Amino acid sequence: MQCKTGAEHIESLKDGRTVYLDGKLVDDVTTHVAFRNAVASAASLYDYQARPENIELMTFVPEGGTRRVNRCWQMPRNYDELVQRRKALQTWAQLSYGFMGRSPDHVASAVIGQYMGLDVFTKHGPARAKALADYVDYATRNDLFLTYVIVNPQADRSKDWGDQAEELVAQIVDEDSTGLTIRGAKMLGTSSIMANEVFVANLQPLKPGEEALAFSCALPMNTTGLRVLSRKSYEAHAVSIYDNPLSARFDENDALLYFDDVKVPWERVFVHRDTDMCRAQFHDTPGHVFQNYQAQIRLSVKSKFLVGLAHKITEAIGTTNMPQVREQLGALAANAGMVEAMLSGMEASGSKRGAYYLPNRHLLYAAHAVTQDLYPRLINLVRDLAGGSLIMLPSSFRDWSNPELAPILHKTQRSPNFSSRDKVKLLKAVWDAIGSEFASRHTQYEMFYAGARFVATGHSYRTFDWSAARGMVDNLLSTYDLEEVPKSATE
Ligand SMILES: Cc1cc2nc3c(=O)[nH]c(=O)nc-3n(C[C@H](O)[C@H](O)[C@H](O)COP(=O)(O)OP(=O)(O)OC[C@H]3O[C@@H](n4cnc5c(N)ncnc54)[C@H](O)[C@@H]3O)c2cc1C
Repeated sequence: MQCKTGAEHIESLKDGRTVYLDGKLVDDVTTHVAFRNAVASAASLYDYQARPENIELMTFVPEGGTRRVNRCWQMPRNYDELVQRRKALQTWAQLSYGFMGRSPDHVASAVIGQYMGLDVFTKHGPARAKALADYVDYATRNDLFLTYVIVNPQADRSKDWGDQAEELVAQIVDEDSTGLTIRGAKMLGTSSIMANEVFVANLQPLKPGEEALAFSCALPMNTTGLRVLSRKSYEAHAVSIYDNPLSARFDENDALLYFDDVKVPWERVFVHRDTDMCRAQFHDTPGHVFQNYQAQIRLSVKSKFLVGLAHKITEAIGTTNMPQVREQLGALAANAGMVEAMLSGMEASGSKRGAYYLPNRHLLYAAHAVTQDLYPRLINLVRDLAGGSLIMLPSSFRDWSNPELAPILHKTQRSPNFSSRDKVKLLKAVWDAIGSEFASRHTQYEMFYAGARFVATGHSYRTFDWSAARGMVDNLLSTYDLEEVPKSATE
């Protein structure tokens, strides 16, 4: 029983999708200089899972399936299955050192989470529930790479979404017996250039009257009228793998998706003109929890990688044994440990919803709120350890082959622990992780991938057990009163 391979994934992307970059239509994302390495990195995830020695760790057979698929599609029924699934996701994240946030397991987590709350869709309408169940089954059996766009372009944040000018936000402009017609934009389809399909929804609050915006659906990336407007490609601007080892290979891309009168068949429509259901599909099901749980799993890998980079910097410049530096490394390691501990905690204190076992909702939101502040601080701590060494680097790998420059480089890039070449190699990787344009996008990602700060803290507020916390305070206050204060204490 085989499973999806990288070659199969690459082949599936040659589907005539409409991707624009630098004012031009991209012929083939799998060969274009702006995308091909990221596509190859995504493909390598499937090759990894297909290797005989990894197949049990990474894949399972879905119910009624004939082919093994990635464990990201597995709906855990108990704690052990949740941990088993997490180990597969963590292993995938290690292949990009946590730098591919929207690897195929992210949106798979979102949609299986929604499936685990199918009762919510059934209340909305049996036909819509059937559409979602059939779609999740189809995506699972084919081990599809999904992306999603669930957020609207900012435009004028002082106005409600329905009041934005010129049909900005993707909305229903027509419907008939075959389905809906959608027009307008959504942001920010990370990985959409290399995904098979896009899940389109509305996570941000809608109010009654905004029913035209209140839909969700899924579409193949080559659907007629679906235009993908890529941001600047960091991969295209990477000098070489030696100079930019991360951005040259793991630039998963982000894009504005514009729906130019796109037809959506009814069997792909999951929410139809229901503003509250747009919220419920994420929050009354485990969908939102599962998508963000994937993000914490990935971050546990990335934070450990950053701590590893920090230690290597100190080896490169000979500071490891300085007490203040050790203290800083210890603080960094403690933060990475905290990310891992929060992950273990939300799993261990999870609970059942029907047949399924879910991570603890509040601990997940607590981890999200804490880590979106933590990431920029981690980056700063790593910068602090490095000083100017990250900047005093050869302009590119080509400097080494200039016979006049090579001896100077060997002399000036000296390190107590590494050869000059290895030191430069390391520091280029550090800069790509914490200082390059790619790195800066990563800080923006970690701060915003699931909403701005007020959104993350809002989820934490909403899901915290206030009655237990306030109850303890009431308990204390009930143990004494003014009348009982001894006279001597008031004099
Ligand atoms: C790198 C990256 C990749 C992404 N990938 C995806 C993706 O694949 N799919 C997807 O759907 N989305 C994606 N997103 C979008 C992401 O979900 C949004 O950026 C996030 O939800 C925040 O929304 P926003 O950008 O509209 O910011 P806003 O909500 O507009 O917030 C920006 C700032 O405005 C202020 N602000 C705005 N509104 C308020 C308010 N009501 N009260 C107080 N302050 C306010 C705050 O200072 C806030 O920090 C991605 C974002 C980034 C940065």
